Amino acid sequence: MQQKKLPRVLIETLGCKVNFYESQGLAAEFRRRGWQVVKKGPLEAVVINSCAVTAEAGRQSLQAARRALKRYPEAQVVLAGCAVVAEPQKAAEVERLSAFFGNVGKNDLVSRLTRELGKPAAGLPEPVGIAGELDISLLRADLERGRSRAVVKIQDGCNSFCRYCIIPYLRGRCRSLPPEKVLAECRELVAAGFREVVLTGIHIGRYGDDAPAAGFSLTSLLLQLVNEFPDLRLRLGSLQPHEITPEIMTLLLDPQSLVCEHLHLSLQSASDRVLGAMGRPYRRSDIKEIFALLAAGSGRLNIGTDLIVGFPAENELAFAETMDLVEEVELGYLHVFPYSPRQGTVAASWPDRVLLAEKKARAAKLGALGRHKRELFAKKNLGRDLHVLLETRIDDSRYRTAWFGHSRNYLPVLVTSQREDDNLRAGFEVTVQAETWDGRRLVADWEKSRR
Ligand code: SF4
Repeated sequence: MQQKKLPRVLIETLGCKVNFYESQGLAAEFRRRGWQVVKKGPLEAVVINSCAVTAEAGRQSLQAARRALKRYPEAQVVLAGCAVVAEPQKAAEVERLSAFFGNVGKNDLVSRLTRELGKPAAGLPEPVGIAGELDISLLRADLERGRSRAVVKIQDGCNSFCRYCIIPYLRGRCRSLPPEKVLAECRELVAAGFREVVLTGIHIGRYGDDAPAAGFSLTSLLLQLVNEFPDLRLRLGSLQPHEITPEIMTLLLDPQSLVCEHLHLSLQSASDRVLGAMGRPYRRSDIKEIFALLAAGSGRLNIGTDLIVGFPAENELAFAETMDLVEEVELGYLHVFPYSPRQGTVAASWPDRVLLAEKKARAAKLGALGRHKRELFAKKNLGRDLHVLLETRIDDSRYRTAWFGHSRNYLPVLVTSQREDDNLRAGFEVTVQAETWDGRRLVADWEKSRR
């Protein structure tokens, strides 16, 4: 008997970890409804899961949709997510798109595409699910995600309305996945062999704020997870300085704790003038205090940060304050973004005072300092025991086998060997000592590390 051919769909994702998680949720739902999720044609459908955090991200999302229409003329191409919510009229200008779905609409996307599969388009499509908020319990990813690191979306939306940020308008207010559901998802992941879970969300520091009567928080969730899963590595998404409670600090600094020694601190600036204008709730003194407390640890904690340069309030002195702080503290990496006004936010109505050339110059200066800091931190870890979770096998003619992975403190590490070894495979955690930094990653010899 001839096997029935499954319809094939390709999902392209832009933007943040939450969006990637939701794409995995869409992929799971497609599989449940009898689709094959693939990486190339021929195809019946393409989903572009878009981003609109900056005007440029929105433009790239529409470009991805146009590219898909050209490359797969036989497929239905649909655009979903933040770019549709941000500018539905611009999305509608992309000719020949089969459908548009806002973030809420993602929940109906798979059933609609399945229902309409093979039917001719019925006139111009109307956007689906632009207003409202996607239920945090829906669109859960499944276990088809490799065997090392899994992401769990514990929170969506944001209540903060920082003056430059469009996210609260696109994703709605803060919603938290109740702790029992987070624990249930982690149980499934552990049973499926995952060794590391990344807790992600749009603003995880405010986890629990939407359910004050239930009395849970990020701190209580972490304590529950640590209690229940003694072998799991837990990694946190980004936090702001004032969101690090003493309990979280203790978990981050203790090398024996399950919470990895890795903190992504969302700073954006270290100048009070800029932080005040942005509407951020902490100040330079809070940042310094947190770094002083974190520095009291073993020195293994890898702290990364996001910084925006060229915000309207950022004069030369304010930029110098940010540069000074970055020089002064230990940082493992920096993400630097030149500010661009985002229509729909408060700051977009202010004069964009810093010239583009100046923004680029500041970004280049801070970026160079960031690369220097990254190298310093990586080299500080040479010769130390690094617990590396192996992720991908790399083809490199210099070695019989080479595996890429991340240490607990999120350093990229290449583990090499001149023989095949059963201990080197995806999802295994190995302890190695790196001998060199090749500019991109630490390199460790597996045989030497075992001696
Ligand atoms: S905390 Fe501020 S920057 Fe972060 S998502 Fe919320 S509004 Fe945007």
